[in-house]
Amino acid sequence: MRHIAIIGSGPAGYYTAEAAQKKFGDEVCIDIIDRLPVPFGLIRTGVAPDHQSIKAVSRRYEKTNLGDNVRFVGNVSVGSDVSVDELQGFYDAVVLATGAPNDRKLDIPGNELSGVIGSAAFVGWYNGHPDFKDLNPPLAGKSVAIIGNGNVALDVARILAKTQNEFRGSDIVAHALDALAQSKIRKITLLGRRGPHQIAMTPKELGELGHLEKARPVVDPLDFPDEGDDAMLEPGMRKSVTHLRSFYQRAGELLDKPITIDFDFFAMPVEIKGDGEVEQIVVERTELDKDMRSIGTGERYELDCQMVISCIGYRTPPIEGVPYEHGRGRFANTEGRILPGLYCVGWAKRGPSGTIGTNKPDGFGMVELIDEDIGAGDQKEGRKGLDRLMAERNVEAVTFRDWKKIEEAEIARARAGAPREKFTDIAEMIAARES
Ligand code: NAP
Repeated sequence: MRHIAIIGSGPAGYYTAEAAQKKFGDEVCIDIIDRLPVPFGLIRTGVAPDHQSIKAVSRRYEKTNLGDNVRFVGNVSVGSDVSVDELQGFYDAVVLATGAPNDRKLDIPGNELSGVIGSAAFVGWYNGHPDFKDLNPPLAGKSVAIIGNGNVALDVARILAKTQNEFRGSDIVAHALDALAQSKIRKITLLGRRGPHQIAMTPKELGELGHLEKARPVVDPLDFPDEGDDAMLEPGMRKSVTHLRSFYQRAGELLDKPITIDFDFFAMPVEIKGDGEVEQIVVERTELDKDMRSIGTGERYELDCQMVISCIGYRTPPIEGVPYEHGRGRFANTEGRILPGLYCVGWAKRGPSGTIGTNKPDGFGMVELIDEDIGAGDQKEGRKGLDRLMAERNVEAVTFRDWKKIEEAEIARARAGAPREKFTDIAEMIAARES
């Protein structure tokens, strides 16, 4: 029997479990350990609440968990409740699928001002992550600057721009929905340090901005290269740029929408100013060098704003004793191997890039490595050892059956038209399994 522990119950973790189930059949026992009492990681607390079709992939993970050889072990923190070393003593393979939940630091003066928020916190807030439920972002100002030109920046802009009506059918948590109902934001500025041909936004997500009830995207045609140059782009990128161009081509018909989402290209934030809280962001104009990197031109402008949300990428939190690559914010690994018996997969392995689906080949590839390395297993005791340790330490795990009860309670308390109303407090989640 092979014993595998997967740390993290997001897409990378579940695809790895699915692959191991398929590869080893009855000859494997898999524990998926998560520090939260609820599974699915990024699907639950990262994917935007108005993108329910993407979240539906959790049904596939649920199917994996219904197999006899896969167990969800929620509410157990690796690092404090149990160490990686201890897990390695019990399991043939320990796979870190911990994602990249920490923000990359926005390293400019003024980053400590109140109202400067990282996307992990902001996204966690509207998605009901227990760590960020009390964020209370300042929504009373008129203007917000969003740093970054990736899909997370788009998610954040869209959520800030939507009307209450547009959240119908979403699972945005009540505290965020209520706060957004009072929002005074009228101007959302997306600061991209490079140009329209260098965005990291995908076409479907970008296209959505052109169909919002009260908001309109605004681009400056002068920022664009000749239209003929779009032909050199790969097809997905070309579609994204076509959407961007359509925003100025359709500008006239969108004029009556009161909220603007301004794309400031070639705009590099260099300082945030304010007396205790954000009042302005200073932006330097950039141009591209021959390698398409942004370089400052020295020309600066100031943008009044009352909140800054940096959406500039994420990092994997280090775990004591596990080799870590500080520059790239992920575990030091070769194709997923960290140390004998210790692996990483998904964002913890490759950094925060790609879609949810990218984790599938990643997980399946990981299981091939494990197969090569551990063969038929090493007579370890597996979950029995973990259970004994948890009993000694009075750590009470949340099971998948418990999760289904929590989920039932979340569905039962949903507002009309919403799929669920998430619990945002760990104690509430745990109490709900007894309901
Ligand atoms: P991302 O795609 O890597 O985008 C990060 C953006 O931040 C880039 O525009 C980057 O510009 C900019 N940036 C980085 N450092 C900066 C700095 N110091 N100052 C100014 N700008 C800076 O990251 P993400 O948006 O966090 O997304 C993470 C992953 O999740 C991506 O693969 C994304 O596609 C995926 N995702 C997908 C969806 C979806 O499919 N619906 C939704 C959300 C996220 P440069 O290009 O110049 O470096």
